[in-house]
Amino acid sequence: PGKKVLIVYAHQEPKSFNGSLLKIAVEELTKQGCSVMVSDLYAMQFEPRATRNDIVGHLHNSEAFNYAVETWEAYKRGGLSKDLVEEQKKVQEADLLIFQFPLFWFSMPAILKGWMDRVLVQGFAYDLSKVYDGGLLQDKLSLFSFTTGGSQEMYSNEGISGDIRYVLWPMQHGIMHFCGVKVLEPHICYAPEHVSEENRKEMLAAWTQRLKTLWKEEPIDCSPEWYFK
Ligand code: FAD
Ligand code: ZN
Repeated sequence: PGKKVLIVYAHQEPKSFNGSLLKIAVEELTKQGCSVMVSDLYAMQFEPRATRNDIVGHLHNSEAFNYAVETWEAYKRGGLSKDLVEEQKKVQEADLLIFQFPLFWFSMPAILKGWMDRVLVQGFAYDLSKVYDGGLLQDKLSLFSFTTGGSQEMYSNEGISGDIRYVLWPMQHGIMHFCGVKVLEPHICYAPEHVSEENRKEMLAAWTQRLKTLWKEEPIDCSPEWYFK
């Protein structure tokens, strides 16, 4: 109770399975007394491209544009574009970040990747030697909740798509852990389009159930071994 949650949601259709998972999370967490913020990226028409439009006012070096350097400098002087500042404020306030999306090409949809690219700028999320356990977004938790087209068998160790943990490595370790954010077990709903209605209801009920005890969970040991051993 009293915890703040930011759900970054990337699906175009509220009636989708992802839309149902979002709705459940908002309802359940609100019921618990959490305050829930939602960034509905498609509805916001969130800009995924990392361009010089993200810098308000003068450039640090207008001769040769370097996105990382320019956003870092702009962050320090308060010169990032308004949409980024708003997202950073939500991240700053949140105790928990939930990412809700369908798996696209073994990764997140471009609009969500764009959110990562643009919001988690140097100076805000990490700094020169402030990375991984030293990252700037400490004392926060993250949870990747996503759906797949492929079945759980396909994403098993012997399966044709390989262990799902390989997919989690860039997102959980490369992004969240890099920024100092702790990682909870992912929540994966396999192939909601290809299972029975009953099965879908069960998957939704399992999400509700998990959320009830979420604040008692320990983060995973997010190290290379967790992914590749
Ligand atoms: P939906 O189609 O919205 O939902 C499935 C079913 O659930 C629908 O019939 C819907 O009506 C129903 N439903 C919704 N709400 C409820 C409810 N409350 N109760 C009961 N039923 C409900 N998959 C992979 O595995 N690997 C990939 O690399 C990959 N790459 C992709 C790349 C692209 C560009 C695209 C478009 C898809 C890709 N996919 C991939 C597939 C994708 O991950 C799945 O299509 C997606 O995860 C399914 O989720 P959804 O929310 O869109 O499902
Ligand atoms: Zn890690």
